[in-house]
Amino acid sequence: MQNKLKNKIIIQKYGGSSVANVECVENVARRIIFYIKKGCKVIVVLSAMGDTTDELVVLAKKINPNPSEREMDMLVSTGEQISCSLLAMALHKKKVEAISLTGSQVGIITDTYHSQAKILKIEADRIKKELTKGKVVIVTGFQGVSTDFEITTLGRGGSDLSAVALAVAIKAAMCEIYTDVEGIYTADPRIVLDAKKINYITFDEMLELASRGAKIMHTRAVEVAKKFNIPLHVRSSFSKKEGTLIMEKTPVIEEAVVRGVALTDNEVKITLCNVLDKPGIAAHVFNDLACENINVDMIVQNVSHKNATDISFTVPKKDLAKTIKISKKISKDIGSGEVSFDENIAKVSIVGVGMRSHSGVAAKCFSVLAKNKINIDMISTSEISISCVIKKDLGKKALRILHKIFGLHKI
Ligand code: ADP
Ligand code: ASP
Ligand code: MG
Repeated sequence: MQNKLKNKIIIQKYGGSSVANVECVENVARRIIFYIKKGCKVIVVLSAMGDTTDELVVLAKKINPNPSEREMDMLVSTGEQISCSLLAMALHKKKVEAISLTGSQVGIITDTYHSQAKILKIEADRIKKELTKGKVVIVTGFQGVSTDFEITTLGRGGSDLSAVALAVAIKAAMCEIYTDVEGIYTADPRIVLDAKKINYITFDEMLELASRGAKIMHTRAVEVAKKFNIPLHVRSSFSKKEGTLIMEKTPVIEEAVVRGVALTDNEVKITLCNVLDKPGIAAHVFNDLACENINVDMIVQNVSHKNATDISFTVPKKDLAKTIKISKKISKDIGSGEVSFDENIAKVSIVGVGMRSHSGVAAKCFSVLAKNKINIDMISTSEISISCVIKKDLGKKALRILHKIFGLHKI
């Protein structure tokens, strides 16, 4: 049989749970050797072991509740160095040549936004040189070096992005994302026990699911994969089974109306009360937030009474303090009223490209929530998704109800 993988460069990314302990690291080494024996050149991107990044964050907060973002990046970027060097040692023990390299050593150049840096370019010369020497190249995920020569990180879960960006830079034949579940499911299988594995999903659907809370893939990683049309294979590092292919167009003839559902309680709702209802106000508010790199998600402006209205919007929880501070300043500038916030919210979403051509999806979604006495606080839609903000304690229930009503447990 012809060996299709001979001399091909493949990228494999292993998440934290796949390298959580010594046995897991050795398991990863065995997988890599399997591909090496097929004649592949392998670039590995690793996350930090298990919950290391979370633990480092806790450690920092014990020392200083408000650590500087630069020092946080210095700290959390170390997690990936540990897993990478250990994997190199595991491969050396098995007589496989391997070298671990940091984001900075391989030339992953980013902008200067600590903790949320964007990749500007990748100078892949070092990687190519090491591959030519016949080495497995192991790269620390999640980090790069800024144009100011500072260590930066790409946002939580950012190792997926490192892997996809490297796949683009190296023109890899394959990009595999190894994780602790067998692929992309119709819902988070930890919450919806009868969620089903999906064989194929489009970039667009994955993008919507990821940005609406499905933490299995980093949103910006999917964005980059879509932009450069790099199919991704998401699969388990603990089994040999095929996982899910994320691609431009699936080979399925008729697309599902709803492909999957997602939940997040990582956002908070801010309300600017008594805002003057006149041109330019919304522009002012959202410009100021954008200048501070705050990602606003949903926006609702209520009907105005006596020329004043309330504007509510959601932002990531981690940006709450910064957003309140800016909103209070904006409120003072534009002469509006109180600034309030609500952390007690969850956002539940349904996603599917089939929504483009099917009517009644929104009606079905809202009706089933109403029937279950789940009040909808905010709604946003795109061509292929519908999201509702509801009370936080009803999030999981709503997710399961929507999963069932759209028949996802039966696919
Ligand atoms: P890794 O450490 O490998 O990057 P993550 O914890 O970031 O793994 O992502 C894997 C987790 O994503 C799974 O354990 C699962 O609970 C969660 N998840 C959320 N939504 C989905 C989904 N639609 N399909 C599969 N897993 C999902
Ligand atoms: N270790 C980082 C995190 O926990 C990056 C990653 O796992 O992708 O967010
Ligand atoms: Mg992840």
